[in-house]
Amino acid sequence: MRLLPRCQGLTTRELPGFPFFPGDRVTQPRSILHVDMDAFFASVEQLDHPEYRGCPVIVGADPRQGRGRGVVAACSYEARGFGVHSALPISQAWRRCPHAMYVRPRGSRYGEVSRQVFELLGRYTDLVEPLSIDEAFLDVTGSGKLWGDAESIGRALQGAIRDELGLEASVGIAPNKFVAKIASDLEKPRGFVVVPPERVAGFLAPLPITRLWGVGPKTAEQLRRLGLTTIGAIAAWPAGALKSRLGEMGEHLWHLARGEDSRPVVPHSEPKSLGCETTFDADQRDPAVVRNTLLALSDRLASRLRRRGLLAQGLSLKYRDAGFHTWTRAVRLVEPTELAEDLHGAALELLERVPDRSQAVRLLGLSTTGLVRRAAAPATQLGLFVADTRPRRAQLAHSVDALRERFGRDAVVRAALLEMDGDEKKR
Ligand SMILES: [Mg+2]
Repeated sequence: MRLLPRCQGLTTRELPGFPFFPGDRVTQPRSILHVDMDAFFASVEQLDHPEYRGCPVIVGADPRQGRGRGVVAACSYEARGFGVHSALPISQAWRRCPHAMYVRPRGSRYGEVSRQVFELLGRYTDLVEPLSIDEAFLDVTGSGKLWGDAESIGRALQGAIRDELGLEASVGIAPNKFVAKIASDLEKPRGFVVVPPERVAGFLAPLPITRLWGVGPKTAEQLRRLGLTTIGAIAAWPAGALKSRLGEMGEHLWHLARGEDSRPVVPHSEPKSLGCETTFDADQRDPAVVRNTLLALSDRLASRLRRRGLLAQGLSLKYRDAGFHTWTRAVRLVEPTELAEDLHGAALELLERVPDRSQAVRLLGLSTTGLVRRAAAPATQLGLFVADTRPRRAQLAHSVDALRERFGRDAVVRAALLEMDGDEKKR
């Protein structure tokens, strides 16, 4: 077994982001939930379009366009009955299920629902680790006093997802992440599988080796050549034997097969800043181009903020001239914003504060800071004035996002940016 470095007496549980050493001993028994939404994108489509309910729904490329290139991003359980699954070429999905509803993905809508799901999960514990847009690990070891045991919490959140969001999720409960993830997948959809510590070995034993994390086709072949086809067979091998055949990977698999996985649930924090920058093809002297480039960058940043449901409280400008002198200037915004106009206004002020603008500009960058959740932001002060156009402008910005989502980024371009060279505006 690998030895842990000394870390001021902390266990790996208390070290966020600590690398995975499956054999590390964690003394306190944990209750880990893995929550995975069922057919997430397709279910959101069925939620928003009642006429799709009960029908096969396939989210992905359009099979009637582009000679059927592209793949299935997600499909409903009705479509799975016809042998359709995610990552299947869309042309094959069309052959297997021509009568399905084929819909283009709506990323921002899925993001919005995903945030609702995560908000709901956050009620039960702060220890929520997103694994993707529609699945997460929760460590509810310490939540018992408030919410009951892990099983009660699992039932409660599965019910809340159904009642409040109109969606279904599968839940796996186990002493660690690896087992919890397998458990949530076993009885989908609407699965609910609890694996108490004493049943972990029996639960894993009959499962095929491909269920182990890290076992791809190549490793699976190596294991099969050793006569190992089930997780139980691997667990029964003597310690060290698999390591001598497969190296570190063998040791890792042996521990997993015995249900040993001490990785902590690491809650992801919000990004602290979002930024983008552009380097001109040729150093730029035209002040109008510089201003418009700042508008294009503001536009891009604002739409990224909106997509993530965030507001910025600060902005910083990075300015580099042809002689490679670089200045950064930062400002706190009057109020938290997700609007390109606000960012652009602040960017122009910051531009004025660059001490020497005698040389041509090589690079411009903008970065938003002090990011807060839109829902958690303090109420706007300006909202008191009747003439405030902010809500309307925000609504317009969200409509533009929706258009771009459907028709591509260039579907809506600011008038000021149309005058710019076609390459520049896309950056
Ligand atoms: Mg899922």
